[in-house]
Amino acid sequence: MNNCIFCKIIAGEIPSKKVYEDDRCYAFYDIQPLAPQHFLVVPKQHIAAANEITEDSAALVGHIFAVIAKLTAELGFADGFRVVTNCGEDAGQTVKHLHFHVLGGKTLGSFN
Ligand code: AMP
Ligand code: ZN
Repeated sequence: MNNCIFCKIIAGEIPSKKVYEDDRCYAFYDIQPLAPQHFLVVPKQHIAAANEITEDSAALVGHIFAVIAKLTAELGFADGFRVVTNCGEDAGQTVKHLHFHVLGGKTLGSFN
């Protein structure tokens, strides 16, 4: 999508520190990490946010979670991790392309 920073990252038009890529998703390190390990996984298809996930995109989202399980095992998130997706203004979503934060490498505090 025009002017979407994550679409531009996927297209290689904006540099990123790639963690993983396949035909359906792209993973890269967050530029402002909130934990010792913090990367993002995004679908290559532009979906604005979690409230736009449909039955048609459900398999894609399931695939992303399988990728997250594989990557966290490979990257040594041995003691656990957190997956977060912010949706909309109240959640503080700043980039309007669906993305899953994967956070670990320390004991993460509870949140509310
Ligand atoms: P959210 O607030 O859930 O929309 O998260 C957006 C995330 O994207 C933030 O954690 C940003 O640090 C991250 N981010 C924004 N621009 C870039 C970029 N060019 N490369 C990597 N991460 C980015
Ligand atoms: Zn996009």
